Amino acid sequence: MILFKKRTDLYKYIEQQRKKKLKTGFVPTMGALHDGHISLIRKSVSENDLTICSIFVNPVQFNDPSDFKKYPVTIENDIYQLETSGCNILFLPDVEEIYPEGTGQQSSYNIGYLDTILEGKFRPGHYQGVCKVMERLLKIVMPDNLYLGQKDYQQCQVITRLVGMLEFEKRIKITICPTLREKDGLAMSSRNMRLSETDRKKATAIYRTLLYIQKNINNSEFTVLKNEAEKILNESGLLTDYIEIADAASLKTINRRDDKRKTIVLIAAYMNGVRLIDNMILDE
Ligand code: AMP
Repeated sequence: MILFKKRTDLYKYIEQQRKKKLKTGFVPTMGALHDGHISLIRKSVSENDLTICSIFVNPVQFNDPSDFKKYPVTIENDIYQLETSGCNILFLPDVEEIYPEGTGQQSSYNIGYLDTILEGKFRPGHYQGVCKVMERLLKIVMPDNLYLGQKDYQQCQVITRLVGMLEFEKRIKITICPTLREKDGLAMSSRNMRLSETDRKKATAIYRTLLYIQKNINNSEFTVLKNEAEKILNESGLLTDYIEIADAASLKTINRRDDKRKTIVLIAAYMNGVRLIDNMILDE
């Protein structure tokens, strides 16, 4: 695996590979890699000649400075996992490399209501920061294939919209990969490293709640169901930002099932100050 720290070096290298008609797959991450990330890498390795992973903890997408400070960094282990899963290139820039003009400037990507619902509502400015870093990374890497995780469902929608706005949709194909879970159902997440063993076990209530909603969706009113769901989470010590039942295509809240459309349940909750998100598409 080749490690690049400078964007111009990476750009030139990928340009050369592209001239050789090599197909490129890109997996952007914030590091502290786990099997969920590695499943994206493996998917890319199986579909491309060259797989590029970036590790960059993007300061401008953190609305909570302490969340940024506490974000886990495990770079040596990350490199080992990337090497053993067949990744060809690691892009590991520092903040100045991505934001030579500094991180202070406001951005205004027009991602519509996605900016103000669910994650956008509870993490103001988060998706503006995501768009900012993704625009820069995509312009450097310009992959044929981009791999994203369903775990960050709303982010997948935001990035799809960004790719459209940048008019890259004919060049970059987006693949959304399934959420990998621990054996007990907890969605794998870098933030799980910040949980104590006891809290990690309690956090499995998020998955149980998703299953509870899935089981009862056809015989309960959605408001009642969401209240019940919140109780399950609270009993395990989770404080919810939201439990939402939405149309999977638009992410707009729905109050009753429509058989012609896919339904998604989304949850964001805190376990002792650690913010966790998860979701489940119900019609699969
Ligand atoms: P992050 O490092 O959290 O920014 O995640 C990098 C990529 O990995 C994103 O596309 C995530 O959606 C994806 N990802 C994170 N957790 C999982 C998981 N448990 N299963 C599959 N993909 C994941």
